[in-house]
Amino acid sequence: MKFNTKTIHFGEVRDKQFGAHITPIYQTSTFIFDDCAQGGDRFAGRDDGYKYTRLGNPNTHEIARRMAALDETDMGLYTSTGMSAVSTALLGLMKSGDHLISSDCIYGGTVGVIDKVITSYGIEADYVKVNDYELFRKAFKTNTKVVYIETPANPTLELIDIKKVAEITHENGAVLIVDNTFLTPYLQRPMTLGADVAVYSVTKYINGHGDVVGGVITGKKEYINKINNPYLVNLGGTGSPFDAWLVSRGLKTLGLRMDRHCSNAMAVAKYLEANPKVAVVYYPGLESFPQHELAKKQMDDFGGMIAFELKGGFEAGEKLLNNLKIISLAVSLGGVDSLIQHPASMTHAAVPKEERLKGGITDGLVRLSVGIEDLEDIIEDIEKGFAKV
Ligand SMILES: *Cc1c(COP(=O)(O)O)cnc(C)c1O
Repeated sequence: MKFNTKTIHFGEVRDKQFGAHITPIYQTSTFIFDDCAQGGDRFAGRDDGYKYTRLGNPNTHEIARRMAALDETDMGLYTSTGMSAVSTALLGLMKSGDHLISSDCIYGGTVGVIDKVITSYGIEADYVKVNDYELFRKAFKTNTKVVYIETPANPTLELIDIKKVAEITHENGAVLIVDNTFLTPYLQRPMTLGADVAVYSVTKYINGHGDVVGGVITGKKEYINKINNPYLVNLGGTGSPFDAWLVSRGLKTLGLRMDRHCSNAMAVAKYLEANPKVAVVYYPGLESFPQHELAKKQMDDFGGMIAFELKGGFEAGEKLLNNLKIISLAVSLGGVDSLIQHPASMTHAAVPKEERLKGGITDGLVRLSVGIEDLEDIIEDIEKGFAKV
C-alpha cells in the first residue's frame, strides 16, 4: 500500500455487526466480557480483546496503527496531547541517574518538561547545538540514554541531519527521539533515517482542522512497548476515542493538504523575499536558506511554516499583524487556515528581551503557518497588511 492509500485505509476497523462504512466511534470507558475466563484471559494477555479505554480502545488503536505504518516503523501509541506524547516518551525511556542531550532549540512545552519535570526526578539534561558535531560528541556522558531533537526547529526552521545525529547517538549507545510535528510522515520519516522513536503533536498537520489536541508516539517495538506499559497506561495520557476518531478523519487528507501547504508556502516565501520591508525569510525551500541542500536530501518537500524578519522591528510586526483580515492571529499551526504570530509582542511578551534574543526571537520576527486557502487571497491579505507598515 502506498502513502495516501494508507492514510485512508491502513488498519481501519471493520464493523461486522452493521457493516458501517466508516469506523464507528467507540465512545465507551469499558468493555464487557462474555465470562470471567475471558476477562482473565484479556488481563493475562492471552486474548487481545479490549478491557478498559485507558488501556486501549479501537479508535485510539486505529490512529496508532496507521501512524506507525506511515512512519514505516513497528508500532504507535495515541495520546491526549502532543505534550503527553513527549513527556511519556521521555519518562518511559529514562530513569533517575540518566543523562539527556536535547538540541538547543525545541518547543517551549518540551523545555518545561525537561527543566521542571524530569530534572526534578534526578535526570540530568544538557541543551547542545547538535549541528556542531564536535560539540555534540563531547556532550555524551557514560549515563547518556536519550538524544532528543526537533527538525525543523522553531522559530528559525534550522534543520538537523537526522541520519548523522542517529549515527553519533548509536555510537554512544543512546536512543534518538525526533519531534516530527512540523513535517509529518508525508514529508519526513525519522525511523527510515535511523531514529528510534518519533513524537507528534497531531493537534497540528495530522488532524489539520484546528479542532483537536492530541499526540502520537511511533517507533521500534522494544521502546514503544516500554513507553506504553508501565508508563502511558499508568500515567494516564491516553487520548479520548472521539478525538482519535476526528484525527483519523483529518489524516485521510494529509497528502492533499500537505501538497497545498507546501506549494502555498513556497510562493508566499518567494513573495516575502522580494518584499523590500522584509529583512530575511527563513524557509527551507528557498535557495537562500543556509541548509537548503540538507532540506532537499532529508525532506520530501519543504513544509508549510515560514518565519521572516521585518526591517521595521517590533512596531512593524504589530502593525502588520493587526491589519490582516483572512490570516488569523493565533498560536498553533498546521491547520487548513493560515495563522500568524509575532512572538515578541505575543507569546514571548513576558520574556526578558536578552533571553528572547538568545532563542533567535528578535523584535521583528514573525511566524506564519501557511494554510490551504487560495494563494491569491493569502498574498492579497499580507499585501494589505504591509501597506500599513
Ligand atoms: C504544539 C507542539 C507540541 C505540543 O503539542 P500539544 O498538542 O500542544 O500538546 C510539541 N512539539 C511541537 C513541535 C509542537 O509544535
